Amino acid sequence: MKQIRSIKGTHDILPKDSANWHQLESTIHDVCTKFGYKEIRTPIFEDTNLFFRSVGEDTDIVSKEMYTWKDKNGTSLTLRPELTASVVRSYIQHNLGSQSPLQRLYYIGSLFRRERPQKGRQRQFHQFGIEAFGSKYPEQEAEVIAIAWHIILQVGLLKKTKLQINSIGSSECRSTYQQALKDFFSPHLTKLSEVSQKRLIKNPLRILDTKNEEELSLLKNAPKISEYYSKEDKDHFEEVKRFLKNMDIPFIINPTLVRGLDYYTKTVFEFTSEDLGSQNALLGGGRYDGLVENLGGKPIPGIGFAAGMERFLLVIKENKLEFKPQSPDIYFICIDKAGIATLLNIANKLRTKGYIIISDMLRKSMKAQFKDANKLGARYVLILGEDELKNRTIRFKNLTNGNQENIKQENIIEFFNNLKN
Ligand code: AMP
Repeated sequence: MKQIRSIKGTHDILPKDSANWHQLESTIHDVCTKFGYKEIRTPIFEDTNLFFRSVGEDTDIVSKEMYTWKDKNGTSLTLRPELTASVVRSYIQHNLGSQSPLQRLYYIGSLFRRERPQKGRQRQFHQFGIEAFGSKYPEQEAEVIAIAWHIILQVGLLKKTKLQINSIGSSECRSTYQQALKDFFSPHLTKLSEVSQKRLIKNPLRILDTKNEEELSLLKNAPKISEYYSKEDKDHFEEVKRFLKNMDIPFIINPTLVRGLDYYTKTVFEFTSEDLGSQNALLGGGRYDGLVENLGGKPIPGIGFAAGMERFLLVIKENKLEFKPQSPDIYFICIDKAGIATLLNIANKLRTKGYIIISDMLRKSMKAQFKDANKLGARYVLILGEDELKNRTIRFKNLTNGNQENIKQENIIEFFNNLKN
């Protein structure tokens, strides 16, 4: 029979990698909790309109990459291509703003985008991210960026990443700037790629993202967004920079950093890593002051970031910072069928005391079970052989120092309670 394989661009997370995933996830939970953020989990699919109205119809994500289908009742549904829109929907739907004027949320989940698969780019991938609703002040940027910084620090990647920041101004500043870009590029239309020509009409800011040499040289003389900041935009960005400096978080200002989505305002930022090749963005985010209102809520400011978990793990792996799976404390060997019930009983008691215990299920030989114990890196072995069963004892062996002794079965818990190493 023909073997069925996973879909292109999707990946199984195999047991050999799960320790890395657990470690990354527990770092995320730990750091977010330290900052007072609470986890939110939203459904994997949503009404397609949610992404039209938030991410923007002209973005690559919405125009090309969504997995969308018609439900039996005719509603258009979409596998979520990002999570900010879903979190904002949930925030509005459950009136979270009325519970507290400041809502600090984080998420971990899988996303779906029909992109061309390559290193660091999948069709189903995982992101973690945070969203902070309620504050329009620059200290909120400082807090959000600090969370990203702490997670990167805790997984050991601080030296491997760079923080880039920019301000794309408030929406008024941006529309004047977009017009200025249109005026600047119009006489050079033929020098622009087909993609950029389209972007010039719909979203000229995205031309700044280009990697095309000719466009890059044109860009050198193009108007800069900083020339269009209002005083408030300028002061806000200055404060963000000052706060970051005060927290000793180094950054680079990248005036061409705009981020692909429509909803950003003012501060945008990215942590990048050279180890990722052309898909070098590890984590990206920004302020989105108009988004809650755009999706039918009150005019509540917001800011957040999203980070690709596969990309984090890729950089962790490339720098040999992987986490080791936890070894068992005890490998419990039994070589006589008659002893299995006793083994299961004692192993269960020891597990309630917190020990990690592995035992064989294949009725292998004593030698083979010992081999397994060593392979798994167990600290101790317990052996239930014929003699032990007869005498109601268990043989204990410390694999680190070779010490051995016989223990009465009824004293086993007490023995482990008093064990020094
Ligand atoms: P975005 O939502 O596009 O701003 O992306 C945020 C982060 O998600 C990026 O910095 C990447 O780390 C990750 N990411 C985005 N798209 C993909 C993808 N197709 N495959 C894997 N990771 C991705």
